[in-house]
Amino acid sequence: MQETRAIQKAISEVSERIAAACGRVGRNPDEVTLIAVSKTMPVEAIREAMACGMIEFGENRPQELRDKQAEISEPLHWHMIGSLQTNKLKYVIGKTVLIHSVDSVTLAKAIAEMSEKKEIVTDILLEVNIAGEESKHGLAPEQVVQAVQEIARLSHIRVRGLMTVAPYTEDAEKNRIYFRKMKQLMVDINSKNIDNIDMDMLSMGMTGDYEIAVEEGATLVRVGTGIFGHRVYLPKE
Ligand SMILES: *Cc1c(COP(=O)(O)O)cnc(C)c1O
Repeated sequence: MQETRAIQKAISEVSERIAAACGRVGRNPDEVTLIAVSKTMPVEAIREAMACGMIEFGENRPQELRDKQAEISEPLHWHMIGSLQTNKLKYVIGKTVLIHSVDSVTLAKAIAEMSEKKEIVTDILLEVNIAGEESKHGLAPEQVVQAVQEIARLSHIRVRGLMTVAPYTEDAEKNRIYFRKMKQLMVDINSKNIDNIDMDMLSMGMTGDYEIAVEEGATLVRVGTGIFGHRVYLPKE
């Protein structure tokens, strides 16, 4: 974890880079939300980011989210960005502003069901494996329309847009094509005028490639290392 000043400096630097990327393509920086990905980071790191006004935080493990929420009473906007099993949904439904990582209609149905019990509507994004990587979660691009149509018929869940984790690369420029495909996929789906569907959120871009993602239309960028420094993974017990 970085020290306080380093975290604050990193947040202003990332924000400036987002604004500059918007400037290059004539976008309004207000269209882009920076999410600080705090997975593996201690609560103190989150508090330091909060001290410079950050309220959007991303976590990828339901139990870690629950543990951090138990320690932080301020009303932050928590984002679930990691793969989800239905038995962990109780830690996420009603406790996050957006679930980015919905990769099946089955999972969407489980989310809808639990949301109905809680009498809430849950906003989700569909995760797309845009580069067709073997190791990645997400729907294949050609499965997305069908999934949107099926989920659109469910109550208590709303598809707000699409999310992707682009391939790891040293050269962010290589991911531009994938970000562009994501944007096009969203435009295509909106043009089908599916009932209840009007998507406007594109969650894409991480530390290595968020500027390119913003140039290609990202509305949510998920930055971890670029804000908090490198993560240290402890072995699971
Ligand atoms: C960890 C993670 C991020 C942040 O990655 P960095 O490269 O550290 O910015 C973004 N999105 C998802 C889904 C993640 O799991």
